Amino acid sequence: MPDRKLVSGDRQAEDLQFEAGLRPRRLAEFTGQSKLKENLDIAIQAARQRGEAMDHVLLYGPPGLGKTTLAAIIAEELEAEFTTTSGPVLQRKLDLTGILSNIRARQVFFIDEIHRLLPDVEEMLYSALEDFRVDILVGVGPGARTHSLPMPKFTAIGATTRQGLVSAPLRGRFGLVLRLDPYNVDELKTIVNRSARLLSVEIEDGAAEELARRCRGTPRIANRLLRRVRDYAQVRADGRITLPVAQTALNLLDVDRFGLDEIDQKIMLTILEKYRGGPVGVGTIAASISEEADTIEEVYEPYLIQLGFLNRTPRGRVGTELAFDYFNVKRKRPHDGQPGLF
Ligand code: ADP
Repeated sequence: MPDRKLVSGDRQAEDLQFEAGLRPRRLAEFTGQSKLKENLDIAIQAARQRGEAMDHVLLYGPPGLGKTTLAAIIAEELEAEFTTTSGPVLQRKLDLTGILSNIRARQVFFIDEIHRLLPDVEEMLYSALEDFRVDILVGVGPGARTHSLPMPKFTAIGATTRQGLVSAPLRGRFGLVLRLDPYNVDELKTIVNRSARLLSVEIEDGAAEELARRCRGTPRIANRLLRRVRDYAQVRADGRITLPVAQTALNLLDVDRFGLDEIDQKIMLTILEKYRGGPVGVGTIAASISEEADTIEEVYEPYLIQLGFLNRTPRGRVGTELAFDYFNVKRKRPHDGQPGLF
């Protein structure tokens, strides 16, 4: 089993510095997500032509697919100022008041993990998003009054990995709600080659493809694996990332052929072994592996579906033939273990 951190889409402390240099800055440099990019491009152009703030945008999808990167790109394309915060950081209404009262016209305000806002902070955000007003407390003690002050029109960008946890009223205040899907191998190959170029490391085509296949459809993991493989190539080979170098390094790191992590494997084995391929409800899977159903649905399943290992049906999740083969689980026939029944 690989180190869980290695194949997780979540941002790790060690990624921060490394990612800064690899983030695409313009929409044209952002690989994949073509439909989402088209929608954004139209909204950006329209706002620019009118000289107005762009509509608020809610981006959702598994971690590491480019939500933060896109938010920064939107600001860049709009030639607008960019401020960032996150749900867990905004602990008190006062924190949000402070930010909102300093927002300037057309500014882009990014709120990561927006599903983690506390209820009263979230409520305050409603009037800012909808009416461009901010409530400010003036004075102290019993004489203190709340004033609702107008604020300039700005663009809020919310990001979440857990769309199901964003309340309906909050979601309803975003004009554009856009989903990011896991990337396919060709797109990831383009991302790996671009990162290698920026890091001045030579990589063979086959090696780039190998990394692309083993990164769970996630650019953040692709870049992380590239960094590890580059270290291996430098220390154990001549610095070039050839296919054998990439394969040996990834095997040494225990990264599976599809980059599956422990939870992916648990989900699939529950469906295939315990429930004989399903159909089985997501709640049942969640209970058997002690994970939240939402997390399974929004963070893990998109990639398993993309790989063709799992289908969502009205009766529950079903494991595919491909999954039975890959996990080497025998599909039990109805008469298995009941000799003499045919
Ligand atoms: P999220 O906010 O969804 O967790 P990030 O925007 O922080 O993800 O992306 C993680 C890293 O992956 C970024 O540093 C960036 O280098 C890379 N990345 C993400 N999407 C793309 C893309 N479409 N093209 C190139 N690189 C990407």
